[in-house]
Amino acid sequence: MTTGLFYHPDCLKHDMGYGHPERPERLTAVMKYLKERKVFDDVNITLQKPPAVTLSDLEQVHPKDYIDLIHNASDREARLDADTRTSKGSFTAALLAAGAGIKAWQEIQAGNLKNAFALIRPPGHHANAQSARGFCLFNNISVLARHITTTIPDSRVLILDIDAHHGNGSQEIHYTESNTLYLGFHQDGRTLYPGYSGYTDELGEGPGRGYTVNLPLPPGTTDLSFLQALSTIFPPIVEQFQPTAILVSAGYDGHFRDYQTNLQFSATAYFKATQLVMELAQKISKGQTVMFLEGGYELRALSESIYNTLVAMSGHGDPVSEKPPTEDSRIKKYITMLLAETKKALKPWWKISK
Ligand SMILES: [Zn+2]
Repeated sequence: MTTGLFYHPDCLKHDMGYGHPERPERLTAVMKYLKERKVFDDVNITLQKPPAVTLSDLEQVHPKDYIDLIHNASDREARLDADTRTSKGSFTAALLAAGAGIKAWQEIQAGNLKNAFALIRPPGHHANAQSARGFCLFNNISVLARHITTTIPDSRVLILDIDAHHGNGSQEIHYTESNTLYLGFHQDGRTLYPGYSGYTDELGEGPGRGYTVNLPLPPGTTDLSFLQALSTIFPPIVEQFQPTAILVSAGYDGHFRDYQTNLQFSATAYFKATQLVMELAQKISKGQTVMFLEGGYELRALSESIYNTLVAMSGHGDPVSEKPPTEDSRIKKYITMLLAETKKALKPWWKISK
């Protein structure tokens, strides 16, 4: 069984204007790099074109009037927030970006793929049900999460978000749900967009209490502390939550060469993080994993990190090996404190023994 890579050239038609970091070149650079690395000659990876999402799937997350607003904004080429704009091709691109996850999931269910990566834009994790924010129009990962929980009785979805920015949209959409758990590792909001969210005391509400978990990492965090935090918190939650599927908001703007954030991960961190996800998914969720591209703006770092992700997903090939900068010794101490605080906060719901 193979890993599906979902890509559609019409995702390039969404254009937020000259100089915008979330630009079409992100996808063309990755595709060029993957071709150079002969990824598409590999029988373990299948390239597929996604269809547009259906209105009924999209409406599980976004109300009809919001979908119409994005459609109209796309026709008018409008500004939706300080850094989110539309062009004539935006609506089409956004429908394909949301459709990729659903199609990937259907192919996995049909036994045609073992797992899948959605190489799409616009990204989605900052969009909530009724607002386009932070370069995002529709929340692609939440659309798939809802599709799964509404079509499979008693199913549970774990959303792991490793983009450098907090996935505030995904968190807000699922904040009161116990069948979708949001687990975010991101740069501390006191130092990065969106700023108001992603703190350890945000744990969900009502029936969703305990099903939102945030690990705000300090600026300067490298592979060392990120992987320590991930391997402490993620496995025990997966083992206790027993998700039907693990969905990943795969943002690569935490790379040390990415100028949008202050995290210091290397391409190797993304390989190791994906390996851990695959290991847990194999053990608990029948390997059913769909990863969604979110951020990542330094083209070489983005390309190598996505390549490493695909090597870990398919289980074939050699990852690009890279060393992160040296981590300040104060970060390790801070992470130890953060993990202790998180374990304590999660105690009523999750036993974290390590
Ligand atoms: Zn980001």
